[in-house]
Amino acid sequence: MRYLILSDMHGNWEAFETVLAEVAGRSFDRTLVLGDLVGYGASPNEIVAAVRRLSRLEIVRGNHDKVVSGIDLGDNFNHVALTAARWTTERLTDENLRYVEELPQGPRKVTEVLSICHGSPLDEDAYVFSEPDALDIFASYPVPLTFFGHTHVPSLFAVDPEGDVEAHLLRGEGEVELLPEIRYLINPGSIGQPRDRDPRAAYMTYDDASRRLCWHRLEYPVARAQQRIREAGLPPILAERLAVGI
Ligand code: ZN
Repeated sequence: MRYLILSDMHGNWEAFETVLAEVAGRSFDRTLVLGDLVGYGASPNEIVAAVRRLSRLEIVRGNHDKVVSGIDLGDNFNHVALTAARWTTERLTDENLRYVEELPQGPRKVTEVLSICHGSPLDEDAYVFSEPDALDIFASYPVPLTFFGHTHVPSLFAVDPEGDVEAHLLRGEGEVELLPEIRYLINPGSIGQPRDRDPRAAYMTYDDASRRLCWHRLEYPVARAQQRIREAGLPPILAERLAVGI
């Protein structure tokens, strides 16, 4: 099966539209969406509508999706994130708001050997940044390959049969063949708000026949996304950070 893996669009239509246009000519057996469709960016309805049009979709909710739809109060959100979440709740159409509210909780098994989640398979809101974070998951969660989002940093954690964990930041673009005896936790990075100092939209593709994982970056009209954020009256920092990818 060929997978398209998309995460953390965060209401950034210019970035998401660019990724969708790039992959439009290719066919995928499954599209995996790892949550945080909305929050931060100025185009939540455009994102939700486009996700709803995706076929053969497997999806989980993110922490921003929960706050925007009122499932979570956002007590742990900073002022900027909470301001953006409230703005988004007011702008979403009833239908789109309901769709976001009904997004399923992760982790979800897509196949016997592949699962998806937003933060961690042990806790949908937890961040997986480090080798110890990954080790905890590998010790209690047996699925061989899990795609996760939430950190906005393209990364790969691998554990060998001896229990040794390796972490890799996936910079720029590249590809690797996943090994059958290794278990993996893989983050495609963020489409709408990259945080690895590369402002380009990040996404991944994976073919489980060849076991080839590819990570991609795409330039998109950042200035237009920034302009929409400013025009919407959202906190200016949300526009500024898009230019530097932090
Ligand atoms: Zn996010």
